[in-house]
Amino acid sequence: MEHILDKDVERVLFSEEQLRQRVAEIAAEIDRDYAGKEPLLVSVLRGSFVFMADLVRQIHLPCTVDFMAVSSYGSGTSSSGQVKIVKDLSEQIEGKDVIVIEDILDSGNTLSYLLQILQARKPASVRLCTLLDKPSRRTKPVQLHYAGFSIPDYFVVGYGLDYDERYRNLPYIGVLKPCVYEGK
Ligand code: 5GP
Ligand code: MG
Ligand code: MG
Repeated sequence: MEHILDKDVERVLFSEEQLRQRVAEIAAEIDRDYAGKEPLLVSVLRGSFVFMADLVRQIHLPCTVDFMAVSSYGSGTSSSGQVKIVKDLSEQIEGKDVIVIEDILDSGNTLSYLLQILQARKPASVRLCTLLDKPSRRTKPVQLHYAGFSIPDYFVVGYGLDYDERYRNLPYIGVLKPCVYEGK
């Protein structure tokens, strides 16, 4: 079934099938690493909501979920360097094994800041899990435990990732045509 938004996508980077497979592999790693524990998965809204929903359904351990929203980007395609907590966690994380779930790790600004905040709350452990990683764009070092795919410096949308709040509902990850954001 085609989407009206397909016409704005230059090419598909990861199909639904590729995403399903990779997400299942990450879930299997988490199952293995956290055997006997009950991790708390913290989804960083909004970009990671689709990844989070697919990932938790492939994790067979008991686990809990919570959500946090930070803003750093506005509607453009590059980082402002400013990170703000828009919605904090609903639960305490002291003594818990936390896994932060992100859509994409780019400069590392957002996650390095978030990590500092979470560490200060004394969890038993914190690990980071991102679906996509753009290592060439990193300006802040961040230790990554689980990464789905490493990608070059493309601006990608779909599977939760937006441009100007659109495209999150595309079931695949694609490169946006530059004409969509050029001249904005
Ligand atoms: P960082 O703080 O690592 O520079 O940025 C992380 C956030 O920037 C991501 O969670 C995501 O919201 C946004 N971002 C970075 N690269 C892309 C991209 O290629 N596509 C989209 N849609 N968002 C991106
Ligand atoms: Mg994000
Ligand atoms: Mg965004």
